[in-house]
Amino acid sequence: MDPDEFRRRGYEMVDWVADYLANVAEYPVNSHVEPGAIRDALPAAAPEHPEPFVDVMRDLDGIIMPGVTHWQSPSWFAYFPANSSGPSLLGEMAAAGLGVQGMLWSTSPAATELETVVVDWFVDLLGLPEEWKTTGPGGGVIQMSASDSSLVALVTAREVATQHAPLDKLVVYASDQTHSSVEKGARIAGFSHVRIIPTDAEYAMDPGALASQIAADRADGLHPAFVAISIGTTATTAVDPVRAIATIARENDMWAHVDAAYAGSAMICPEFRRHQDGLELVDSYTFNPHKWMFTNFDCNLYYVADRRPLLDAMSILPPYLRNEATLSGKVIDYRDWHVPLGRRFRSLKLWFVLRHYGAEGIRYHIREHIQLTQDLAMRLNNDPRFEVVAPHPFGLVVFRHVDGNEATTDLANRLNASGRVAVTPTTLGEQSAIRVSIGQTTTSSTHVNALWEMIDNAGDGTDI
Ligand code: PLP
Repeated sequence: MDPDEFRRRGYEMVDWVADYLANVAEYPVNSHVEPGAIRDALPAAAPEHPEPFVDVMRDLDGIIMPGVTHWQSPSWFAYFPANSSGPSLLGEMAAAGLGVQGMLWSTSPAATELETVVVDWFVDLLGLPEEWKTTGPGGGVIQMSASDSSLVALVTAREVATQHAPLDKLVVYASDQTHSSVEKGARIAGFSHVRIIPTDAEYAMDPGALASQIAADRADGLHPAFVAISIGTTATTAVDPVRAIATIARENDMWAHVDAAYAGSAMICPEFRRHQDGLELVDSYTFNPHKWMFTNFDCNLYYVADRRPLLDAMSILPPYLRNEATLSGKVIDYRDWHVPLGRRFRSLKLWFVLRHYGAEGIRYHIREHIQLTQDLAMRLNNDPRFEVVAPHPFGLVVFRHVDGNEATTDLANRLNASGRVAVTPTTLGEQSAIRVSIGQTTTSSTHVNALWEMIDNAGDGTDI
Protein backbone atom coordinates (compact mmCIF):
# COMPACT_ATOMS: atom_id res chain seq x y z
CA MET A 1 0.00 0.00 0.00
CA ASP A 2 1.73 3.14 -1.19
CA PRO A 3 1.23 6.49 0.58
CA ASP A 4 -1.42 7.62 -1.93
CA GLU A 5 -3.54 4.54 -1.46
CA PHE A 6 -2.98 4.72 2.29
CA ARG A 7 -4.26 8.30 2.25
CA ARG A 8 -7.41 7.26 0.37
CA ARG A 9 -8.08 4.22 2.54
CA GLY A 10 -7.14 6.18 5.62
CA TYR A 11 -9.81 8.81 4.95
CA GLU A 12 -12.29 6.01 4.40
CA MET A 13 -11.25 4.38 7.65
CA VAL A 14 -11.62 7.61 9.60
CA ASP A 15 -15.13 7.89 8.11
CA TRP A 16 -15.79 4.29 9.09
CA VAL A 17 -14.74 4.88 12.71
CA ALA A 18 -16.57 8.24 12.91
CA ASP A 19 -19.76 6.62 11.54
CA TYR A 20 -19.37 3.78 14.01
CA LEU A 21 -19.03 6.12 16.96
CA ALA A 22 -21.90 8.30 15.74
CA ASN A 23 -24.18 5.25 15.50
CA VAL A 24 -22.87 2.99 18.24
CA ALA A 25 -25.93 3.63 20.41
CA GLU A 26 -28.07 1.90 17.75
CA TYR A 27 -26.22 -1.44 17.90
CA PRO A 28 -27.31 -4.26 20.23
CA VAL A 29 -24.79 -3.71 23.05
CA ASN A 30 -23.87 -7.38 23.53
CA SER A 31 -23.10 -9.50 20.50
CA HIS A 32 -25.46 -12.46 20.32
CA VAL A 33 -23.54 -14.64 17.88
CA GLU A 34 -23.25 -18.36 18.61
CA PRO A 35 -19.81 -19.66 19.66
CA GLY A 36 -17.75 -20.48 16.56
CA ALA A 37 -19.88 -18.34 14.22
CA ILE A 38 -17.08 -15.91 13.37
CA ARG A 39 -14.48 -18.66 12.92
CA ASP A 40 -16.82 -20.60 10.65
CA ALA A 41 -17.31 -17.55 8.44
CA LEU A 42 -13.55 -17.15 7.92
CA PRO A 43 -11.30 -19.29 5.72
CA ALA A 44 -9.24 -21.98 7.45
CA ALA A 45 -5.98 -20.79 5.86
CA ALA A 46 -4.39 -17.36 5.47
CA PRO A 47 -4.63 -15.80 1.98
CA GLU A 48 -1.86 -16.91 -0.36
CA HIS A 49 -2.49 -14.05 -2.78
CA PRO A 50 -3.14 -10.33 -2.18
CA GLU A 51 -6.78 -9.38 -1.83
CA PRO A 52 -8.42 -6.05 -2.69
CA PHE A 53 -8.78 -3.75 0.33
CA VAL A 54 -12.50 -3.31 -0.40
CA ASP A 55 -12.95 -7.02 0.26
CA VAL A 56 -11.27 -6.67 3.64
CA MET A 57 -13.61 -3.80 4.54
CA ARG A 58 -16.61 -5.78 3.31
CA ASP A 59 -15.70 -8.64 5.65
CA LEU A 60 -15.04 -6.25 8.51
CA ASP A 61 -18.66 -5.12 8.16
CA GLY A 62 -20.18 -8.45 7.23
CA ILE A 63 -18.27 -10.99 9.33
CA ILE A 64 -16.52 -9.19 12.17
CA MET A 65 -19.04 -6.55 13.22
CA PRO A 66 -21.81 -9.02 14.17
CA GLY A 67 -19.39 -10.54 16.68
CA VAL A 68 -18.37 -7.22 18.25
CA THR A 69 -19.48 -6.25 21.74
CA HIS A 70 -20.01 -2.51 21.82
CA TRP A 71 -17.91 -1.28 24.71
CA GLN A 72 -18.17 2.26 23.35
CA SER A 73 -21.98 2.25 23.54
CA PRO A 74 -23.39 4.91 25.89
CA SER A 75 -25.51 2.07 27.31
CA TRP A 76 -22.43 0.08 28.31
CA PHE A 77 -22.81 -0.51 32.04
CA ALA A 78 -20.93 -3.82 32.24
CA TYR A 79 -17.58 -4.62 33.91
CA PHE A 80 -15.74 -1.31 34.12
CA PRO A 81 -15.66 1.18 31.27
CA ALA A 82 -12.91 0.96 28.66
CA ASN A 83 -13.70 4.41 27.44
CA SER A 84 -12.10 6.24 24.57
CA SER A 85 -12.27 9.56 22.75
CA GLY A 86 -11.44 11.26 19.47
CA PRO A 87 -8.13 12.72 20.67
CA SER A 88 -7.08 9.35 22.05
CA LEU A 89 -7.83 7.57 18.76
CA LEU A 90 -5.94 10.22 16.84
CA GLY A 91 -2.96 9.95 19.19
CA GLU A 92 -3.08 6.18 18.70
CA MET A 93 -3.07 6.67 14.96
CA ALA A 94 -0.05 8.97 15.16
CA ALA A 95 1.77 6.40 17.32
CA ALA A 96 0.97 3.61 14.84
CA GLY A 97 2.04 5.81 11.95
CA LEU A 98 5.37 6.62 13.54
CA GLY A 99 5.79 2.97 14.49
CA VAL A 100 8.70 3.64 16.82
CA GLN A 101 10.02 1.26 19.46
CA GLY A 102 10.69 3.34 22.54
CA MET A 103 12.65 0.78 24.50
CA LEU A 104 15.70 3.00 24.87
CA TRP A 105 15.96 6.76 24.96
CA SER A 106 18.20 6.47 21.90
CA THR A 107 15.65 4.45 19.90
CA SER A 108 13.32 7.47 19.94
CA PRO A 109 14.14 10.27 22.38
CA ALA A 110 10.71 11.90 22.06
CA ALA A 111 8.94 8.68 23.08
CA THR A 112 10.89 8.58 26.34
CA GLU A 113 10.83 12.29 27.12
CA LEU A 114 7.11 12.79 26.43
CA GLU A 115 6.37 9.77 28.63
CA THR A 116 8.45 11.25 31.45
CA VAL A 117 6.63 14.57 31.18
CA VAL A 118 3.19 12.96 31.11
CA VAL A 119 3.78 10.58 34.05
CA ASP A 120 5.17 13.48 36.06
CA TRP A 121 2.13 15.60 35.18
CA PHE A 122 -0.07 12.84 36.59
CA VAL A 123 1.64 13.06 39.97
CA ASP A 124 0.17 16.56 40.29
CA LEU A 125 -3.10 15.73 38.53
CA LEU A 126 -3.92 12.86 40.91
CA GLY A 127 -2.38 14.36 44.06
CA LEU A 128 0.24 11.60 44.31
CA PRO A 129 3.35 12.02 46.50
CA GLU A 130 5.80 14.53 45.00
CA GLU A 131 8.67 12.02 45.48
CA TRP A 132 7.10 9.83 42.80
CA LYS A 133 8.16 12.29 40.12
CA THR A 134 11.16 11.45 37.97
CA THR A 135 12.93 14.40 39.58
CA GLY A 136 12.63 12.61 42.95
CA PRO A 137 13.72 9.14 44.04
CA GLY A 138 10.70 7.49 42.39
CA GLY A 139 9.12 7.69 38.98
CA GLY A 140 6.38 6.50 36.70
CA VAL A 141 6.17 4.48 33.52
CA ILE A 142 3.44 3.55 31.06
CA GLN A 143 2.73 -0.16 30.73
CA MET A 144 0.09 -2.25 29.02
CA SER A 145 -2.06 -3.24 31.96
CA ALA A 146 -2.55 -3.14 35.70
CA SER A 147 -1.82 -6.86 35.71
CA ASP A 148 1.62 -6.13 34.26
CA SER A 149 2.25 -3.46 36.88
CA SER A 150 1.24 -5.71 39.74
CA LEU A 151 3.51 -8.44 38.39
CA VAL A 152 6.42 -6.01 38.22
CA ALA A 153 5.70 -4.90 41.79
CA LEU A 154 5.69 -8.53 42.93
CA VAL A 155 8.94 -9.34 41.15
CA THR A 156 10.61 -6.26 42.63
CA ALA A 157 9.33 -7.13 46.11
CA ARG A 158 10.63 -10.68 45.64
CA GLU A 159 14.10 -9.36 44.76
CA VAL A 160 14.12 -7.13 47.84
CA ALA A 161 12.81 -9.79 50.20
CA THR A 162 15.08 -12.61 49.02
CA GLN A 163 17.98 -10.59 50.38
CA HIS A 164 16.60 -11.56 53.82
CA ALA A 165 14.82 -14.89 53.34
CA PRO A 166 14.55 -17.65 50.74
CA LEU A 167 11.75 -17.45 48.17
CA ASP A 168 9.85 -20.40 49.61
CA LYS A 169 9.46 -18.52 52.92
CA LEU A 170 8.03 -15.32 51.42
CA VAL A 171 4.35 -14.48 51.88
CA VAL A 172 2.03 -12.30 49.78
CA TYR A 173 -1.13 -10.80 51.31
CA ALA A 174 -4.26 -9.72 49.47
CA SER A 175 -7.89 -9.38 50.47
CA ASP A 176 -10.78 -11.59 49.37
CA GLN A 177 -11.72 -8.66 47.09
CA THR A 178 -8.29 -8.01 45.54
CA HIS A 179 -8.20 -8.35 41.76
CA SER A 180 -7.14 -11.81 40.60
CA SER A 181 -4.13 -10.33 38.80
CA VAL A 182 -2.30 -10.12 42.14
CA GLU A 183 -2.70 -13.82 42.88
CA LYS A 184 -1.79 -14.65 39.29
CA GLY A 185 1.25 -12.37 39.45
CA ALA A 186 2.33 -13.99 42.72
CA ARG A 187 2.13 -17.39 41.03
CA ILE A 188 4.18 -16.21 38.04
CA ALA A 189 6.74 -14.54 40.32
CA GLY A 190 7.25 -17.84 42.15
CA PHE A 191 5.67 -17.05 45.54
CA SER A 192 4.28 -20.17 47.14
CA HIS A 193 2.38 -18.53 50.01
CA VAL A 194 -0.56 -16.20 49.26
CA ARG A 195 -2.80 -15.29 52.18
CA ILE A 196 -6.30 -14.05 51.53
CA ILE A 197 -7.30 -11.58 54.23
CA PRO A 198 -11.01 -11.16 55.04
CA THR A 199 -12.84 -7.91 54.43
CA ASP A 200 -15.31 -5.96 56.57
CA ALA A 201 -19.00 -5.28 55.90
CA GLU A 202 -18.00 -2.69 53.29
CA TYR A 203 -15.64 -5.12 51.50
CA ALA A 204 -12.49 -3.29 52.64
CA MET A 205 -9.50 -5.26 53.95
CA ASP A 206 -9.53 -5.69 57.71
CA PRO A 207 -6.13 -4.40 58.95
CA GLY A 208 -6.51 -6.26 62.25
CA ALA A 209 -6.91 -9.56 60.39
CA LEU A 210 -3.87 -8.70 58.28
CA ALA A 211 -1.75 -7.98 61.35
CA SER A 212 -2.85 -11.25 63.00
CA GLN A 213 -2.05 -13.29 59.88
CA ILE A 214 1.38 -11.66 59.61
CA ALA A 215 2.10 -12.48 63.26
CA ALA A 216 1.00 -16.10 62.74
CA ASP A 217 3.16 -16.42 59.65
CA ARG A 218 6.18 -14.99 61.43
CA ALA A 219 5.63 -17.44 64.27
CA ASP A 220 5.71 -20.22 61.63
CA GLY A 221 9.10 -19.02 60.38
CA LEU A 222 7.73 -17.38 57.23
CA HIS A 223 8.73 -13.94 55.90
CA PRO A 224 5.93 -11.45 55.03
CA ALA A 225 6.99 -9.74 51.78
CA PHE A 226 4.15 -8.03 49.93
CA VAL A 227 0.67 -6.65 50.51
CA ALA A 228 -1.80 -5.49 47.85
CA ILE A 229 -3.99 -2.55 48.82
CA SER A 230 -7.04 -1.82 46.63
CA ILE A 231 -8.48 1.61 46.02
CA GLY A 232 -11.64 0.61 44.15
CA THR A 233 -12.05 -3.17 44.05
CA THR A 234 -13.46 -4.79 40.96
CA ALA A 235 -16.55 -6.25 42.58
CA THR A 236 -17.82 -3.16 44.40
CA THR A 237 -15.15 -0.37 44.22
CA ALA A 238 -14.41 -0.88 47.91
CA VAL A 239 -11.48 1.08 49.30
CA ASP A 240 -8.97 -0.55 51.64
CA PRO A 241 -7.65 1.62 54.50
CA VAL A 242 -4.40 2.61 52.79
CA ARG A 243 -2.73 4.28 55.75
CA ALA A 244 -3.47 1.47 58.23
CA ILE A 245 -2.31 -1.28 55.88
CA ALA A 246 0.76 0.59 54.65
CA THR A 247 1.75 1.25 58.27
CA ILE A 248 1.58 -2.48 59.02
CA ALA A 249 3.64 -3.11 55.88
CA ARG A 250 6.31 -0.63 57.02
CA GLU A 251 6.45 -2.13 60.50
CA ASN A 252 7.06 -5.52 58.89
CA ASP A 253 9.46 -4.40 56.17
CA MET A 254 7.06 -5.46 53.45
CA TRP A 255 6.37 -4.04 49.99
CA ALA A 256 3.01 -2.19 49.87
CA HIS A 257 1.44 -2.01 46.41
CA VAL A 258 -1.71 -0.03 45.62
CA ASP A 259 -4.07 -1.18 42.89
CA ALA A 260 -6.19 1.81 41.85
CA ALA A 261 -6.70 0.45 38.33
CA TYR A 262 -10.24 1.78 38.03
CA ALA A 263 -10.65 4.41 40.75
CA GLY A 264 -7.35 6.18 40.10
CA SER A 265 -9.11 8.30 37.47
CA ALA A 266 -11.41 9.80 40.10
CA MET A 267 -8.39 11.21 41.94
CA ILE A 268 -8.16 13.96 39.34
CA CYS A 269 -11.02 15.46 41.40
CA PRO A 270 -9.58 16.59 44.74
CA GLU A 271 -12.78 15.72 46.63
CA PHE A 272 -12.10 11.97 46.12
CA ARG A 273 -8.49 12.01 47.29
CA ARG A 274 -9.50 11.21 50.85
CA HIS A 275 -9.73 7.62 49.58
CA GLN A 276 -5.99 7.53 48.91
CA ASP A 277 -4.86 8.95 52.25
CA GLY A 278 -1.56 7.30 53.23
CA LEU A 279 -0.03 6.95 49.78
CA GLU A 280 3.24 8.45 51.01
CA LEU A 281 3.76 5.18 52.90
CA VAL A 282 3.44 2.81 49.93
CA ASP A 283 6.06 1.47 47.54
CA SER A 284 4.15 1.24 44.27
CA TYR A 285 0.88 2.25 42.66
CA THR A 286 -0.98 1.35 39.49
CA PHE A 287 -3.85 3.02 37.64
CA ASN A 288 -5.45 2.57 34.23
CA PRO A 289 -6.25 5.64 32.13
CA HIS A 290 -7.60 3.00 29.72
CA LYS A 291 -10.56 2.38 31.98
CA TRP A 292 -12.12 5.71 32.79
CA MET A 293 -9.95 8.50 31.39
CA PHE A 294 -11.04 8.64 27.74
CA THR A 295 -7.86 6.90 26.60
CA ASN A 296 -8.29 3.75 24.58
CA PHE A 297 -6.73 0.48 25.73
CA ASP A 298 -3.86 -0.04 26.39
CA CYS A 299 -2.56 2.56 28.81
CA ASN A 300 -1.56 1.83 32.39
CA LEU A 301 0.52 4.01 34.69
CA TYR A 302 2.84 2.44 37.24
CA TYR A 303 4.65 4.46 39.91
CA VAL A 304 7.31 3.54 42.42
CA ALA A 305 8.36 5.58 45.42
CA ASP A 306 11.98 4.51 44.92
CA ARG A 307 13.11 3.45 41.46
CA ARG A 308 16.34 1.72 42.56
CA PRO A 309 14.90 -1.69 43.53
CA LEU A 310 12.80 -1.65 40.35
CA LEU A 311 15.82 -0.98 38.17
CA ASP A 312 17.88 -3.57 40.07
CA ALA A 313 15.19 -6.15 39.39
CA MET A 314 14.48 -5.29 35.76
CA SER A 315 17.70 -4.00 34.18
CA ILE A 316 19.75 -6.12 31.84
CA LEU A 317 22.08 -4.74 29.17
CA PRO A 318 23.04 -7.09 26.34
CA PRO A 319 25.78 -5.84 23.95
CA TYR A 320 23.33 -4.99 21.14
CA LEU A 321 21.50 -2.47 23.34
CA ARG A 322 24.62 -0.66 24.50
CA ASN A 323 24.72 2.93 23.34
CA GLU A 324 26.38 6.16 24.29
CA ALA A 325 23.29 7.78 25.82
CA THR A 326 22.62 4.79 28.10
CA LEU A 327 26.26 4.59 29.17
CA SER A 328 26.32 8.34 29.90
CA GLY A 329 23.68 7.78 32.62
CA LYS A 330 21.89 10.94 31.48
CA VAL A 331 18.80 9.30 30.03
CA ILE A 332 15.94 7.02 31.05
CA ASP A 333 15.61 3.68 29.24
CA TYR A 334 12.08 2.57 30.08
CA ARG A 335 12.79 -1.03 29.03
CA ASP A 336 14.42 -1.26 32.49
CA TRP A 337 11.08 -0.46 34.15
CA HIS A 338 9.01 -3.46 33.08
CA VAL A 339 9.02 -6.92 31.48
CA PRO A 340 8.87 -6.32 27.69
CA LEU A 341 11.69 -4.85 25.70
CA GLY A 342 9.69 -3.31 22.85
CA ARG A 343 7.32 -0.53 23.82
CA ARG A 344 4.67 1.47 22.03
CA PHE A 345 4.54 5.27 21.99
CA ARG A 346 1.59 5.19 24.41
CA SER A 347 2.20 8.60 25.93
CA LEU A 348 1.08 10.26 22.67
CA LYS A 349 -2.59 9.38 23.10
CA LEU A 350 -2.55 10.35 26.76
CA TRP A 351 -0.93 13.67 25.86
CA PHE A 352 -3.55 14.27 23.17
CA VAL A 353 -6.33 13.51 25.68
CA LEU A 354 -4.90 15.80 28.35
CA ARG A 355 -4.44 18.64 25.91
CA HIS A 356 -7.84 18.23 24.31
CA TYR A 357 -9.92 18.03 27.51
CA GLY A 358 -7.64 19.82 29.94
CA ALA A 359 -7.78 18.57 33.51
CA GLU A 360 -11.01 20.53 34.02
CA GLY A 361 -12.70 18.74 31.11
CA ILE A 362 -11.78 15.34 32.51
CA ARG A 363 -12.96 16.37 35.98
CA TYR A 364 -16.27 17.52 34.52
CA HIS A 365 -16.98 14.13 32.91
CA ILE A 366 -15.80 12.04 35.87
CA ARG A 367 -17.96 14.08 38.24
CA GLU A 368 -20.93 13.68 35.92
CA HIS A 369 -20.49 9.89 35.81
CA ILE A 370 -20.26 9.75 39.59
CA GLN A 371 -23.33 11.95 39.99
CA LEU A 372 -25.34 9.77 37.59
CA THR A 373 -24.28 6.74 39.64
CA GLN A 374 -25.36 8.36 42.90
CA ASP A 375 -28.73 9.28 41.34
CA LEU A 376 -29.29 5.70 40.18
CA ALA A 377 -28.26 4.36 43.61
CA MET A 378 -30.80 6.68 45.23
CA ARG A 379 -33.58 5.41 42.96
CA LEU A 380 -32.66 1.82 43.74
CA ASN A 381 -32.45 2.54 47.46
CA ASN A 382 -35.84 4.24 47.44
CA ASP A 383 -37.51 1.30 45.75
CA PRO A 384 -38.55 -1.51 48.11
CA ARG A 385 -38.01 -4.12 45.35
CA PHE A 386 -34.27 -3.46 45.25
CA GLU A 387 -31.37 -3.31 47.63
CA VAL A 388 -28.01 -1.60 47.05
CA VAL A 389 -25.53 -4.06 48.51
CA ALA A 390 -22.30 -2.05 48.84
CA PRO A 391 -21.07 1.52 49.21
CA HIS A 392 -20.80 3.27 45.84
CA PRO A 393 -18.14 6.00 46.16
CA PHE A 394 -17.34 6.20 42.42
CA GLY A 395 -19.12 5.21 39.21
CA LEU A 396 -20.34 1.72 40.13
CA VAL A 397 -23.51 0.67 41.91
CA VAL A 398 -24.12 -2.95 42.87
CA PHE A 399 -27.66 -4.01 43.69
CA ARG A 400 -29.96 -7.00 43.98
CA HIS A 401 -33.63 -7.84 43.81
CA VAL A 402 -35.03 -8.37 47.31
CA ASP A 403 -36.78 -11.54 46.10
CA GLY A 404 -33.40 -13.26 46.08
CA ASN A 405 -30.79 -14.79 43.82
CA GLU A 406 -33.07 -16.14 41.14
CA ALA A 407 -34.96 -12.86 40.75
CA THR A 408 -31.67 -10.96 40.64
CA THR A 409 -30.07 -13.20 38.01
CA ASP A 410 -33.27 -13.20 35.99
CA LEU A 411 -33.32 -9.39 36.04
CA ALA A 412 -29.68 -9.20 34.86
CA ASN A 413 -30.33 -11.73 32.11
CA ARG A 414 -33.40 -9.89 30.89
CA LEU A 415 -31.54 -6.58 30.80
CA ASN A 416 -28.69 -8.13 28.81
CA ALA A 417 -30.96 -10.10 26.48
CA SER A 418 -32.76 -6.88 25.53
CA GLY A 419 -29.72 -5.79 23.54
CA ARG A 420 -30.33 -2.24 24.74
CA VAL A 421 -27.91 -2.27 27.69
CA ALA A 422 -25.10 -4.39 29.11
CA VAL A 423 -24.74 -4.99 32.88
CA THR A 424 -22.68 -7.56 34.79
CA PRO A 425 -24.34 -10.27 36.84
CA THR A 426 -22.08 -11.25 39.72
CA THR A 427 -22.07 -12.82 43.17
CA LEU A 428 -20.99 -11.36 46.47
CA GLY A 429 -20.53 -14.15 48.94
CA GLU A 430 -23.68 -16.23 48.59
CA GLN A 431 -25.72 -13.42 47.07
CA SER A 432 -26.35 -12.74 43.40
CA ALA A 433 -25.98 -9.08 42.47
CA ILE A 434 -25.89 -6.81 39.44
CA ARG A 435 -23.05 -4.40 38.75
CA VAL A 436 -23.92 -1.21 36.90
CA SER A 437 -20.87 0.81 36.00
CA ILE A 438 -21.38 4.28 34.57
CA GLY A 439 -18.37 5.73 32.79
CA GLN A 440 -18.65 5.49 29.06
CA THR A 441 -17.51 8.66 27.32
CA THR A 442 -20.95 9.56 25.92
CA THR A 443 -23.18 8.15 28.66
CA SER A 444 -25.61 10.81 29.86
CA SER A 445 -28.71 11.01 32.05
CA THR A 446 -30.80 9.94 29.02
CA HIS A 447 -29.06 6.56 28.95
CA VAL A 448 -29.13 6.07 32.71
CA ASN A 449 -32.83 7.05 32.83
CA ALA A 450 -33.54 4.51 30.09
CA LEU A 451 -31.68 1.85 32.10
CA TRP A 452 -33.67 2.73 35.21
CA GLU A 453 -36.93 2.46 33.27
CA MET A 454 -35.94 -1.04 32.16
CA ILE A 455 -34.98 -2.05 35.72
CA ASP A 456 -38.21 -0.54 36.99
CA ASN A 457 -40.33 -2.49 34.46
CA ALA A 458 -38.39 -5.73 34.74
CA GLY A 459 -38.35 -5.49 38.53
CA ASP A 460 -41.98 -6.58 38.76
CA GLY A 461 -42.00 -8.87 35.79
CA THR A 462 -43.36 -6.40 33.19
CA ASP A 463 -41.79 -6.38 29.71
CA ILE A 464 -38.75 -4.18 29.52
N1 PLP B 1 -7.20 -4.24 39.21
C1 PLP B 1 -8.50 -3.91 39.30
C2 PLP B 1 -9.03 -3.33 40.58
C3 PLP B 1 -9.34 -4.11 38.20
O1 PLP B 1 -10.63 -3.79 38.30
C4 PLP B 1 -8.81 -4.65 37.01
C5 PLP B 1 -9.67 -4.87 35.85
O2 PLP B 1 -10.84 -4.59 35.84
C6 PLP B 1 -7.44 -4.97 36.99
C7 PLP B 1 -6.68 -4.76 38.09
C8 PLP B 1 -6.81 -5.55 35.76
O3 PLP B 1 -6.61 -4.53 34.84
P1 PLP B 1 -5.82 -4.82 33.47
O4 PLP B 1 -6.84 -5.36 32.52
O5 PLP B 1 -5.29 -3.49 33.08
O6 PLP B 1 -4.77 -5.82 33.76
